[in-house]
Amino acid sequence: MAARPPKRYAVIGNPIAHSRSPSIHADFARQTGVELQYERLLAPLDGFDDTLDRLHAAGGAGANVTVPFKVQAWQRASRHLSPRARLAGAVNTLWWQDGELYGCNTDGIGLVRDLERLEAPLAGASILVLGAGGAARGAIPALIEAGCARVRVANRTESRAVELARLFASETHNATLEAGGFGAAADPTGWDIVINATASSLADELPALPEGVYRPGVLAYDMVYSAQPTAFMREASQHGARTADGLGMLVEQAAESFAIWHGVRPSTAQTIARLRAELAR
Ligand code: NAP
Repeated sequence: MAARPPKRYAVIGNPIAHSRSPSIHADFARQTGVELQYERLLAPLDGFDDTLDRLHAAGGAGANVTVPFKVQAWQRASRHLSPRARLAGAVNTLWWQDGELYGCNTDGIGLVRDLERLEAPLAGASILVLGAGGAARGAIPALIEAGCARVRVANRTESRAVELARLFASETHNATLEAGGFGAAADPTGWDIVINATASSLADELPALPEGVYRPGVLAYDMVYSAQPTAFMREASQHGARTADGLGMLVEQAAESFAIWHGVRPSTAQTIARLRAELAR
């Protein structure tokens, strides 16, 4: 009897050539003994649905979805969304089961796992989240679920921060959720963690923060990752903060996708170390 071909997966985005997801999932597959095929698929900006349908028709079992298609993926999987995806309003992990499409969002839990890896205190913590786009939206419910006492969303366009806080108003459990512009991001009692969930570092720019945001010992975390510390990380370290970038989050969110698809959670340390070394070359 002929051996069954390995299950087929892909990451769909535009652009996509830079994506490290294939190499991350190949690492996890080797580590866990899962056989799979995982490729990059460039979808035209108006062609996400077609690309996804072609993957399914070709025997695809699931897909990761990246910029700019996470909201479209959420709409496509709207009949079967995980609670995390429902709250995040965006989907980065899709899979087919009995012909139906399911969706989850693993970005928020990936961030939380990375913060735990960095030994950042989450239970009872006060956290400042900069940004009010898709990444912040995925992060906020995960931070609340992890037991943070207080989350403040600060965004360049203040109204978007206020809108985001309103969206989660009934999901705060015992946490306090506040919103405002960057100007009001300082806090006399100090933040335990400051998370840059804006795209500012992609342009080597800084969110325009006032004095008094950082205190010694705070963790300043940039969701963007790069070979060198980002502008946000450089400024935060000048104020005595410990800093980290989003490479660990990238790998941790992939590990969550892998666990959903294959029922086994890979360890992430070696993959994070490999990617860090590759970035430094
Ligand atoms: P998005 O939905 O387009 O939102 C962009 C956010 O960045 C908005 O809040 C925007 O503010 C703000 N912004 C953009 N340029 C800025 C600048 N120069 N100064 C201050 N604020 C600025 O993007 P997203 O999906 O949330 O992604 C945000 C970042 O997170 C991206 O860089 C992405 O690469 C990163 N990310 C990383 C991971 C990971 O695994 N490491 C996962 C997800 C996302 P306005 O509302 O005022 O425009």
